[in-house]
Amino acid sequence: MKHFVKVLHGPDHAENAYRAISAVCTHDVTGKQVLLKVNTGFKAEPRSGICTSPDVVEGVIRYFQEKGAGRILVGDSSIVGVDSLEALASAGIRDVCEKTGVECVDLNSFDPVDKKIPGGIMVDSILFSSAPFESDIVVSMPVMKTHMYTGATLSIKNMKGCMYKREKTKLHRLSKPLPPDPRGRSLDYGLLDFTKVCYPDYAVVDGTVCMEGFGPSGGTPVQLDVVLAGSEPAAADLVALKLMGIPLEEVGHLLLISEARGVSYDTIETDPADCSPYSRKFITAGEARLGLHSDKIVMEDESACSACHAALIQFLRYHRHDFEDGEVYTIFSGKDVNKDDILKAKNPCLVGNCTARFKDLAPFCRGCPPIPSEIKKTLKGEAGISITFLGHSCFRVRSKEYSILFDPFLTGNPAANVNADDVSATTILLTHGHGDHLGDTVSIARRCRSTVFATVETASMLPEDIKVEKGQIGGYIRTDFGGVKFLPAFHGSGVAGGLACGFLLEIEGKKIYFAGDTGLTVEMSLLAEEEIDVALLPIGDRFTMGPKDAVRAVSMIRPKKVIPMHYNTMPAIEQDPQRFKEITERDTGTECIILAVGESLSL
Ligand code: SF4
Repeated sequence: MKHFVKVLHGPDHAENAYRAISAVCTHDVTGKQVLLKVNTGFKAEPRSGICTSPDVVEGVIRYFQEKGAGRILVGDSSIVGVDSLEALASAGIRDVCEKTGVECVDLNSFDPVDKKIPGGIMVDSILFSSAPFESDIVVSMPVMKTHMYTGATLSIKNMKGCMYKREKTKLHRLSKPLPPDPRGRSLDYGLLDFTKVCYPDYAVVDGTVCMEGFGPSGGTPVQLDVVLAGSEPAAADLVALKLMGIPLEEVGHLLLISEARGVSYDTIETDPADCSPYSRKFITAGEARLGLHSDKIVMEDESACSACHAALIQFLRYHRHDFEDGEVYTIFSGKDVNKDDILKAKNPCLVGNCTARFKDLAPFCRGCPPIPSEIKKTLKGEAGISITFLGHSCFRVRSKEYSILFDPFLTGNPAANVNADDVSATTILLTHGHGDHLGDTVSIARRCRSTVFATVETASMLPEDIKVEKGQIGGYIRTDFGGVKFLPAFHGSGVAGGLACGFLLEIEGKKIYFAGDTGLTVEMSLLAEEEIDVALLPIGDRFTMGPKDAVRAVSMIRPKKVIPMHYNTMPAIEQDPQRFKEITERDTGTECIILAVGESLSL
């Protein structure tokens, strides 16, 4: 049996689309419901090679209207995290629908329908939008694009957008073993399963402005001015693949599906017979050199699916330069992320909902997939305030623009898991001059040109080239990030005649009380009026208050959350933080957060 594919080339894309579908459509469409399943998986400008061209859509609508079709739906369901109707609008397709009087639809607005897969290899069932199953005629209208995981994405792969909402990620998370001697990857066999229940009647492939390289969204547009159509979508896809200069063997799902449907290049007849004048060798994703390497961003993303990878590539592409002068960050993405790796990593950041179970360990960027600009915000601390425990009494508070360290004792700190050289700070709040608090203040402040806040006496321990903001107990200094108040602490300062202090840090509307080293003081009761968000209190005993007094301190301060510190760094201050948490929460109602070294709390 021959499979006919019509190929048209030229600048009038709407007219070519009209003629292409006219040449292959054999249905009597009178009064029928037609679904034009376009590709608007991502939000992008019209004719940028990412979404189906509105001109091509217009040509196909015109054909079905002239033939007397009933209800005509034009729609897609975008990748998770992108609003489908917004994507249709930004691609210019909503305007075409309004102009022609047809419906522009989010496929997720239809009821879901669970389809069993007969002889499913990788999946037994798939939840779909009911839109393609309620329609009499389904036309798949992809853009001709390379794809970093499937080699290319054409009319068959385009139908994956009919999967209902988050079900779309199902084919990226397959765990069944592959058949013996596999001829593709899990996703390829998953797509083969998919086609057993969801297969379009026609394909109209938009090859007007295509994409090569890191498709489906991060590649380079290629103007080819081609539209092709077929009543056997696998045949149309094979012809499109040939025009792209990509061997069928490199596109596993098309290899499997075309074989299963009895389609090969020998069974295809094209008009014109020789389409080679319209072809061009596309750079595949594997051949693309995007120069996206960053020394400052380490990716731990082996178990992430293609949607997360696409987001990470876009993040690197557009935002990696924002990190060139700063610290190293480690991005974790995918379902196999583990706690030990996160705790060992430099500046870990969790990206994607698959990592949500660890979100108390490190800053977390939600999304499935996540949005690239949100990844940047999370890394930069722009998504809110995070407090990270660096060991003993050292904490880092990070906001959009500031990185503030409390008592940066890292070198020689047996609890620390980062080197002082790897930590940067705009500001250091130093409570007193004992070695386990003064620590690396000078080296960090010198390297990062940080401003050190300290009492007059403690500041006298610092070299002259260090920028200092001196204060004294009770004093308040307004700052660019909010403010710093010097608070009493009952403890030696390490400087004759000087006092140790605690700090009240105000930043982006949050109040963080850092007690430093102190015994219980009645002055703490005054802090109740401050409505403190988080109190960082020592519980080690011997040199500071112990757990019992720390619980009393919580009763007096009444913070929303408390984090214990200054314990278990050495035998003399061994304590059970879990017991402290139980008693604090039982007796005060304040939530107690025990941070492991490297863990963060987001506010
Ligand atoms: S969070 Fe990322 S890796 Fe996980 S399913 Fe979603 S897109 Fe894929």
